[in-house]
Amino acid sequence: MDITGAVERFVAGRWIAGPEIQDSIKVAKRLNRAGLSVIINYLGEEIEDKAKIKKTIDVYKNLIEEMKTNRINGSISLKPSQIGSRINAAMLAENYSKILDLAEKEGIFVWLDMEQPETVAKTIHLYLDAMPRTNAGICIQAYLRRSGKDISSIANAGGAIRLVKGAYNPGIHGYSSRADVERNYRSLMHDLFIKANRFMIATHDRRLIREAIGLSKSYKKTIQYGMLNGIENKYAAELAKSGESVSLYLPFGTDWTEYSYRRLREGSHALLLAASLFRNQSV
Ligand SMILES: Cc1cc2nc3c(=O)[nH]c(=O)nc-3n(C[C@H](O)[C@H](O)[C@H](O)COP(=O)(O)OP(=O)(O)OC[C@H]3O[C@@H](n4cnc5c(N)ncnc54)[C@H](O)[C@@H]3O)c2cc1C
Repeated sequence: MDITGAVERFVAGRWIAGPEIQDSIKVAKRLNRAGLSVIINYLGEEIEDKAKIKKTIDVYKNLIEEMKTNRINGSISLKPSQIGSRINAAMLAENYSKILDLAEKEGIFVWLDMEQPETVAKTIHLYLDAMPRTNAGICIQAYLRRSGKDISSIANAGGAIRLVKGAYNPGIHGYSSRADVERNYRSLMHDLFIKANRFMIATHDRRLIREAIGLSKSYKKTIQYGMLNGIENKYAAELAKSGESVSLYLPFGTDWTEYSYRRLREGSHALLLAASLFRNQSV
């Protein structure tokens, strides 16, 4: 028996809906019943095979239709490197706008995930080129020094921003200590309240969430909160019950290794990971 594989599958199973679109729909329905919206992602990244990219676009097309048919309260989120960034900018832009059009027709919002620091400028360019769009948003990472300027240009273009701490290695482009990342997150969050109208505070950090709730009252702005499925579902449902708008990022598919390792790194304090594995995740 492959013990490592079995452990990996068990761990991934906490965060990932399952291999098929229908698995994501089933989990999405359960989360919707608990008052939570979903951000569904088809797993896959760094794709260089054109046939696989085409299959990915087809999966997103089917996913959008299934979400509409099943009246799922949710959006989708995709990675540039799964829809053509590893081939060339033209293919990426064509595929991105194809998905935006399909989703727009069905009233579904499309988030762009943010990947490694070297890809950030191109991803922001892709997003801004597609504006103005009401159904498109982009992720911005607080561990990067450039993010303040990016928030200003995206907010000026009327874009929607999902603020995260960042899941890759920021290297020379960013802050490496947890304290510095948290400080920058806090500062960018204040910028968002001042400059932007559509944004999501995507973190499990309760101090930041509490602060955002306070700011949303002072600025009289209704905002969204985002968390990853399987980490703090109970807390997310409590927040939703208290009247906040909360979405859970919900991946599905079979390409789960990279996603799972990023989550394991974040929970690398063994206690944190154990807590998320065994905490009551009843929603
Ligand atoms: C909706 C959403 C979308 C995202 N999209 C992107 C993206 O496009 N690009 C990108 O680079 N990153 C993305 N991320 C990931 C993000 O950058 C962080 O890596 C991740 O959210 C963990 O950081 P944190 O803000 O929760 O803070 P942390 O300080 O890492 O965690 C705060 C608390 O949350 C709990 N926690 C967090 N992660 C774990 C874990 N894996 N296991 C157990 N407990 C944990 C712990 O209690 C911890 O103390 C996204 C995150 C969310 C919520």
